[in-house]
Amino acid sequence: MKVLKFGGTSVGSIENIKRVREIITDGDKKIVVLSAMSGTTNALVEISDFIKNNNSNQALVSIDNLYHKYTIVLDDLIEVSELKQEVGNYIDKVFDFLKACSSEKHSEFLYNKIVAQGELLSTFIFTKYLNQEGVNARLLPALDFMRIDKLHEPDDFYIKQNLQRIINDALPADIYITQGFICLDAYGNVANLQRGGSDYTATIIGAVVEADEVQIWTDIDGMHNNDPRFVENTHAISNLSFDEAAELAYFGAKILHPQTVMPAREANIPVRLKNTMDPESYGTLISQETKGDGIKAIAAKDNITAIKIKSARMLLAHGFLKKVFEIFEKYETSIDMITTSEIAVSLTIDDDSNLSSIVEELEKFSTVEVDNQQTIICLVGHSIVKHHETHKLFKVLQDISVRMISYGGSNNNISLLVNTNDKITALKRLNKYVFDLVIS
Ligand code: ADP
Ligand code: ASP
Ligand code: MG
Repeated sequence: MKVLKFGGTSVGSIENIKRVREIITDGDKKIVVLSAMSGTTNALVEISDFIKNNNSNQALVSIDNLYHKYTIVLDDLIEVSELKQEVGNYIDKVFDFLKACSSEKHSEFLYNKIVAQGELLSTFIFTKYLNQEGVNARLLPALDFMRIDKLHEPDDFYIKQNLQRIINDALPADIYITQGFICLDAYGNVANLQRGGSDYTATIIGAVVEADEVQIWTDIDGMHNNDPRFVENTHAISNLSFDEAAELAYFGAKILHPQTVMPAREANIPVRLKNTMDPESYGTLISQETKGDGIKAIAAKDNITAIKIKSARMLLAHGFLKKVFEIFEKYETSIDMITTSEIAVSLTIDDDSNLSSIVEELEKFSTVEVDNQQTIICLVGHSIVKHHETHKLFKVLQDISVRMISYGGSNNNISLLVNTNDKITALKRLNKYVFDLVIS
C-alpha cells in the first residue's frame, strides 16, 4: 500500500484536481491525504484574525468571498445533480458554521476549528468527484483516528488502532481519502499539525500502515538544491538520505513540513517528492541510502533570535553552560545553533514565546544581548565537513556579515547565521560559490 499526499496547489483548481484523479487511478489500492485548496487555509486564518480583533463584519465579508470560490468549484466539478445537492449542502453547512463562529469569542480552540474547515471541504468535494467519475473512493475522517499526545507528538498507538478499525468497518474501497493537517489533541479537541502539516500526516499514516512508500505530490519537481523562491538556476536533487532531507526540512525547505521525515526514517519508508504538474519527472527519492558527497543543498530558516550571553565569571569556570542550558530547558525552548568563546556564548532559538523570562533569568548572572530578525542558512550534504570543496562556501564572508557559524557539530550540516536582510544575497552568492552557477 502507498500513501500519496497532494498539497494545496495540486487540489487548487479544477484542472489540477483532474490531474490528481489521473495520478491516483492506476489500479493500486492507496490512501490519499489532501491539503486544503490553495489559499483556503490563509483565508481561514484571516477570518480567525478578524474575529480575534472583534471585527465580525470583516470576518463575514471574507467568509462570503471564500464561499463564492467554493460555489464556482461546485459548479465546475460536480455535474450529477444528486451529488451536486449533497456537496452543495456540505459546503453550506461549513459556511454556516464559519458564520456562527464570527460572533463567538476568540480562542485557540475556535482558531483550530476554523482552520480545520479547509481540509474538510477539499476531501469531501474530491471524494464525491471521484465517485461521480466511477472511482470506488471512500472518505476516512482524520478526526476519527489522527491524534497527538500531551507533548504534541503523534499518538501512534491510538492512530494505528483507530485507522485499522475504521478501514475494517468501512465498505471496501480502492482509494481511501483523508484530511491532512487536522487531528485531535490529547483531550479530544480539534487541533492540527501546524501550517504545512499535511506532509507530516502522510508520513505518520505511512508509518502506522507500514506503507511501501509515501509520495508527496506538490507544484515542483522535488527538493531543489537552493530555495527556488529566491534563487534562479536551482535544480531538483534525485536522491537524499533521511538525515539530509530532515535537516533541509527543519532548516526551512518549505517543500516539506519540518517533522515530515521523522516517522518515515523511524519506519524506514522511502518518501518520494513528485510534481503533480509533471508526473513523469523523477522528483526526489528520500531513503536510507546516502548517494554522492559534497554540499547538496542550501536552505534558510527565518524568524530566528540570537542571544549572546556574556559573563566574566565564565572564564576558566565550569558549570556555566549547564546553568545556561537549564534555563532554556525550564522554558521548553530548544536551541538550534551555539558557539562559545572564553567569556561569551551565543545561541539561537526559533520559539521566542518565553524570551523575556529567559533573558530575565540569564541576566541574574550575565550580560545578555538579543538580536531578532536573524536567519539560519543551512548547507547540507553527506560528510561535507570533511569534503575538499566545502571551503568554497566561506567566500560568502567577503560579501555579507555572518553573525555565527556552526561547523563540525554534525558531518552533514554547516549553518551560518545572518541578518534576515542579507538572506537573499547570501543564498544567491552561495549558489554561485558552492555550485559554480552564474547568478543574476
Ligand atoms: P504544497 O502546498 O504542495 O504543500 P508548498 O508550497 O508547501 O506546497 O511547498 C512547495 C514549495 O516549496 C515550492 O513551490 C517552492 O517554492 C518551495 N520551496 C522552498 N524551498 C524549496 C526547495 N529547496 N526545493 C523545492 N521547493 C522549495
Ligand atoms: N492547509 C494547511 C496549510 O495551509 C496544511 C497544508 O497545506 O499542509 O498550512
Ligand atoms: Mg506544504
